[in-house]
Formats: sequence, C-alpha cells, structure tokens
Amino acid sequence: MPELPEVQTVVDDLKKKIVGRRILKIWSDTPKIVQRPNFKQFEEEIKNSKIENIRRRAKNILIDLNNNRLLLIHQKLTGHLLVGRWQIKNNQVQPRDKGILGEKVNDYIHLIFYLDNGQMLALSDLRKFAKVIFGSAQEIESLPDLKNLGPEPLTKDFTLAKFSSLFQEEKRKIKQVLMDQNVISGIGNIYSNEILWAAKICPFKSAFQLNPQERKNLYLALGKVLNQALRFRGTSVDNYRDTAGQPGKYEQKLKVYRRENQPCFRCQTLIKRAKMEGRSVYYCPKCQNK
Ligand SMILES: [Zn+2]
Repeated sequence: MPELPEVQTVVDDLKKKIVGRRILKIWSDTPKIVQRPNFKQFEEEIKNSKIENIRRRAKNILIDLNNNRLLLIHQKLTGHLLVGRWQIKNNQVQPRDKGILGEKVNDYIHLIFYLDNGQMLALSDLRKFAKVIFGSAQEIESLPDLKNLGPEPLTKDFTLAKFSSLFQEEKRKIKQVLMDQNVISGIGNIYSNEILWAAKICPFKSAFQLNPQERKNLYLALGKVLNQALRFRGTSVDNYRDTAGQPGKYEQKLKVYRRENQPCFRCQTLIKRAKMEGRSVYYCPKCQNK
C-alpha cells in the first residue's frame, strides 16, 4: 500500500499537473469505486468542478473543488492515479499517448476524469479496493477517515515532545503503534520496518517501554527515513507507480524490508522475518535486540 512518501509524491505531481483544471465529465466501468454519493449523483455533481488545490492527509489524497467541495481518494493496496490521455473502445481503456504506456496499469483503469485541457486523471486499480468519496468539505472532513487520524510526522509542530507523548500509555508493540493511523499518520509496513532498523529498536518492544534516548532515536529515524524516501519518490516493491506510471527509486535504499536472510548493512547478521498481526516484520536480531 502506498505510504506517506508515495502518496505525497502523487500529490506533488498532481499539484503541478491538474490544479486549475475543470472536470468536464467522468467515465467508469466500476461505479462501486465511488462510495458516496451514488454514482449518478456523483457524475452530475462533479461536472464542471474546478480543481483548486490538492493535499495529502495520512494516506488520503484530498482534491479541493470549487464551492467548498472535497474529493477524497484512497489508493488502498493497488490504486494508481495517472495523468495522461486514453480512449474507450468497446468499454476497454486504451492509452492514446506513449509514456504511461506499455505499463500494466492501463489494463486496470476503472475511473476517468476528463479535464478541460484534453488531459485525463485516471484511477487504475487491479484489486478494486480503492476508495473515492465526494461531498461538501465539511461533510468529508468530519468522516472517521479523516477526523480520527493522528498527527502528520513531517510537519514543523511534530516535535520530539509531541512524538513521545503518543507512547506514554501505549502497551502495544512499537511497530504496531507506528502503523496505527489514529496514533500517527502515513506510516505502513515498509517504513515502520525501515524506521525501526534505522533507530536500532526491536519491533516487538512495547511502546511505553522505550527510554528517552530510544524515543529520540526513533523520532530522528522517522524524519530521516520518510524524507529520504520522499526524495527518491517512494518505493515500488508493492507495485506503486507515480502519476506518469513510473516506479519510485527508494527500493534500492531499503535496509530491511523484504531482505530476509540477507546480511544486515550494519553488522552482517542475517535479517529475520517474523509475523505480527498478519504483517511481516523484518529486523536485525543483533542491532535491534533490546
Ligand atoms: Zn545488524
């Protein structure tokens, strides 16, 4: 699933490509991707909307439309937002220009927004778990999808003190806590593994047991790993693509994720894989042993 660096990369791309454009019409072969309102109403109300801004909140992409309306897109496991041009023939989507093209993502386009400059915003989704929600900004902002989210880790006011306060009464394992969107926003399985390795902290340790030095190391590692991943436009191991259909480049920088039985970059001990709540945990049993 795309995490903070991947979603932010998509948002930054979209800002350059589609802010200021109007949506002329939409097409879909999978109306259920739009969770609310019903598809007919969505089709009517989105027509002629002007795209005023695009932002990220946790792993959600928020598209601000004129008249205080908001379009929320969550890519979930395999969603991709692409900007390009396609044509529909016999209800099949075909690319019209080369670029994204030749990419598998074209085969899974289920929703297209036609823009007033001839470009299109397309949602490709192999698994069809992606979620699109549309309504007044007030209505969307008050949904649990947004309202219950924890703080954003790359903002200026996310201080060490604020970070530490999240863990004080937290009995769950630190890796689970890092991935809980209601505690802290935007971190999933790839980056929780990477951050814990960078901070030399055992993923199985209970969050409240971290001492002040460990909390500081974790805080610094979190900023460092997420910012570096952003600079490399994210990680594509789980088939993530940017808005031009291109993979991210952080995969070559990964230190533990999917490196089971390969030597740790710090101490050469073989990286271990375990399960936690159904997700894979990758860690160095020597550097992260406490
Ligand atoms: Zn190690």
